[in-house]
Amino acid sequence: MARRPGPPTCGKRFVGNTNTDEVHDLDNEKTGANECQIDEIIGAGLAVTFSPDTLAEAHRQGYDNCAYCFMRVKTTRVREGGENTTHLYSSLLSRFVSVWLWSIVFGGLTGTIFSLFSFRQYERWGLLTSLLVLLFTLGILAALVSGAFLFRGLSGYLIPRFVMLVSPGSQDDKKARFRFADDLRMAFLMMLVAALVRMCMNLSELILVALGFY
Ligand SMILES: [Zn+2]
Repeated sequence: MARRPGPPTCGKRFVGNTNTDEVHDLDNEKTGANECQIDEIIGAGLAVTFSPDTLAEAHRQGYDNCAYCFMRVKTTRVREGGENTTHLYSSLLSRFVSVWLWSIVFGGLTGTIFSLFSFRQYERWGLLTSLLVLLFTLGILAALVSGAFLFRGLSGYLIPRFVMLVSPGSQDDKKARFRFADDLRMAFLMMLVAALVRMCMNLSELILVALGFY
């Protein structure tokens, strides 16, 4: 066998398996039992290609050489006997950092929410009250959205990984990791918006004090 013209590989030379994170060289494909198994990978919907179609790009995306089409000497992963230690450590580190980042955003959001609710002086400012109520509402909304993203990250990723101990490495796991990254990003962004709104409320106060209204 060699390169396949149709989708999903479209005649490209290097094909990744998203389940095993291994890259195959179709120009040197090995078709024996339990070797490359390219048709099985395509059939299972696990095949990806790279742009540009180079081995360097595959390595940059974290793929490791298949032991068969690249020959055993070129692979960095131990074929039999499970994961090599580098892969194990980076996977552990990534889990640790996930929890750490989540906690930071959660802590920041909690602080912002407390700070928003500690602001209770609108009634003395007459016409400007409505502006401050608007800002307050905006801040609380942003904080709620941030909290919702954090909750999705917690229930969709952290709890399955750390409490229910779902095994990593499957295609679903990869999707879940990407979703978790998006959730963290959005939660952080919304927390920043809430904090910014809180700063605007403070600024209004300072300006009012400076103008002698307060
Ligand atoms: Zn291969």
